[in-house]
Amino acid sequence: MIVVPVYNKMILPYSRIYFRTDEFKSLSGRVAIGEKVVMLVKKEDIPKEEYKEDSFYPLAVTGNISSISAEGYVEVMAGERVYIDDVSINQDYSIELSIRRNPVTIDISEELRSKKLEQIRREMNEYVSNYSWGQSAKAFISQFNSLEETVCAMSIWMTISNEEQYSLLEIDSLKKRTEEIERMLYEYIEVAKVSSDASFAQQEEYQNMYKESAIKKQMEYLQKELDELHPEKVTDVRKFEMKIDNAGMNETAEAEARKVLNRLKQEGSHSSETGMLYDYLDFVTSLSWKSEDPKNIDLDFASKILDEDHFGLKKVKKRIIQQIAVMNLKKKQSGSILLFVGAPGTGKTSIGKSIARALGREYSRVSLGGARDEADIRGHRRTYIGAMPGRIMDGIQKSGVSNPVMVLDEVDKIGASYHGDPASALLEVLDPEQNHTFTDHYMNVPYDLSDVFFICTANTTDTIPGPLLDRMEVIHFEGYTPLEKLSIAKEHLLPKAMEKMGIPEGKISISDDMINKIISEYTREAGVRGLRKRMDTLCRGAAVEIAKEPENVFEVTEDRLRDELDMRPVHREKVPEKQKSGVVTGLAWTSAGGEILYIETVFTKGKGNIIITGQLGDVMKESAQIAVSLVKTMFPDKADVFEKNDIHIHVPEGAVPKDGPSAGITLTTAIASLVTDKAVDPHFAMTGEVSLRGVVTPIGGLPEKLMAAQRAGVKNAFIPKENEDDLRDVAKEVLDQINVIPVSNVEEVLKKVGITTDDMQRDTDAA
Ligand code: ADP
Repeated sequence: MIVVPVYNKMILPYSRIYFRTDEFKSLSGRVAIGEKVVMLVKKEDIPKEEYKEDSFYPLAVTGNISSISAEGYVEVMAGERVYIDDVSINQDYSIELSIRRNPVTIDISEELRSKKLEQIRREMNEYVSNYSWGQSAKAFISQFNSLEETVCAMSIWMTISNEEQYSLLEIDSLKKRTEEIERMLYEYIEVAKVSSDASFAQQEEYQNMYKESAIKKQMEYLQKELDELHPEKVTDVRKFEMKIDNAGMNETAEAEARKVLNRLKQEGSHSSETGMLYDYLDFVTSLSWKSEDPKNIDLDFASKILDEDHFGLKKVKKRIIQQIAVMNLKKKQSGSILLFVGAPGTGKTSIGKSIARALGREYSRVSLGGARDEADIRGHRRTYIGAMPGRIMDGIQKSGVSNPVMVLDEVDKIGASYHGDPASALLEVLDPEQNHTFTDHYMNVPYDLSDVFFICTANTTDTIPGPLLDRMEVIHFEGYTPLEKLSIAKEHLLPKAMEKMGIPEGKISISDDMINKIISEYTREAGVRGLRKRMDTLCRGAAVEIAKEPENVFEVTEDRLRDELDMRPVHREKVPEKQKSGVVTGLAWTSAGGEILYIETVFTKGKGNIIITGQLGDVMKESAQIAVSLVKTMFPDKADVFEKNDIHIHVPEGAVPKDGPSAGITLTTAIASLVTDKAVDPHFAMTGEVSLRGVVTPIGGLPEKLMAAQRAGVKNAFIPKENEDDLRDVAKEVLDQINVIPVSNVEEVLKKVGITTDDMQRDTDAA
């Protein structure tokens, strides 16, 4: 007899009970079919080493090993209930028992029992049929012939404690036990049902979710169909909804747009907020949120386009081609930020447009002139009444893409106010480290500007804040010579004007002389903006004539020029042949190009004061003082002249303040001319700073200044020796016409203009 202690296992008489073979291994006795076993119930789950006499409940069940499976199971067919009179534990922990029969009272008919079994089977079958494993479960249940067997088999599934299992064994009446088993099984089914109901409910919830999203999709589809059928009936809210769906916005932007859309829905159409919400959605949904793939640009093609649109500008074009090559290699849409600096009408803005064409990209021009608040760049917060996006995002929106070529015009004309500095906002726009999340206050969500090809333009770099200037690469547009202007007029401006006015080719005849006349007498500029306007005006006049008499060719004569242009020829200030002493020709740089100007000096009765008039009063003061001191030391015997007189210096308006110092040699020469009473030939023009020792130091804007000298017909120009290198940038035709004299000190100048060193020496000696 094998004694098998069990824990948490249902043992009921006349049922099949399964064990794993290793549960038998440690037991004494032969594990073989037919061998007798006694199963007794442990009170606690303890190992055999801890067994004591009272470790077991008093009731047990006998049985026989009915089969041993290859998979390692031992099947025991349970027999009767027995009562344990005595337990003894051996040294090897084997257990010896003395048992006595203790069968239960059979108080229920066999018939009723099988009826009950049937009923339970039915219930179970019905229950398990809800599951995919129901089929095999049914087969499993049907193999048991008694209630006990069924319960034993099912106890593996049911959560019944060890005590509960034993309590079933304790019941003496078979009827009661059957009822109890029944109760347990039903309870189990109910619990299972409830939890399955719960999981079913959960499933239902999921199903509802799927259903909902399917319905939504369906609705969207139907709505789209409807919208297509009746586009006029699509509501604004619906339109915005569709636009937001398709815009490809970043997460933050989409969330904000939907938030505003919800507000719009709630507000209805009569609220004061509606307009603002509407404008916002209109703006953000019309922006392009999609990034474009960088294209490989054919450099020859790009060069061709640039040449097609603009004459000359070799240096500029070369730099642009370099930039495109770098962008190609790096597979990027933008590169260094170029700053085009030069006089108006020199082609800075229009070449930006041409770059866009060469790159096959959209063009957008943003004027920054007069931007004074941060809000000009970055927009107003939406809490403001009349809030608007800043100029940058406005430009992006107008371009319709996320990677336009954007020309930021007039960066030298941004100001500052107490509302924040537009320049620092601009810094962020142009900073590749920051501009991929540029946040306009109005939009309140980031937008990626990193693919935008920025180009800035300015007339001068002087007024651009340092940090901003540092971020850009300056390219100078020097202005055009009359010869270049002639070519531009012939090849670009005239054909364009004719096309604009609808004049067929060959219907206007204009000689180079006439064009040159327009250039020299009807315009006064470094660029060609005025020239373009004259060409337009001329063509407009021609259009009338040609419309009247289509056969005729409109020939431009001097008279016609005067009639059509309807303006007096600009009096181009040519240098006079003679000038009084004390007056000297200077060369100045202005943001409109170069200028010549005459610095005039006279002595008036006084006490040695220096009076300065003209636009540059303050700035000139230092230069004038240096000049006066310099002349005083050069001509010591004239000291009393300076003492008894005031010296009045007049610098006519023109030059920009910064350019003041470059009038140093002009001022010195003028004063020297005045005190020595030696007139200086006005055909000697000059530019250069001067130190107290009379050393001539370098200046800026040389090409523009020499071009102005050429326009005025000046024959000689003194320039600082250190500026000699800049002559490379000066057009050949200018150099051909002007005798450029590089000098390193004032004495050289004075000597050349006829105030000789001898005079000075003699004067000095006399002193
Ligand atoms: P900026 O921006 O420097 O003030 P724009 O680009 O507005 O000058 O140029 C003014 C006009 O002159 C434009 O119509 C432009 O096409 C024309 N223009 C300027 N430079 C050239 C050039 N090198 N070749 C042809 N046209 C030019």
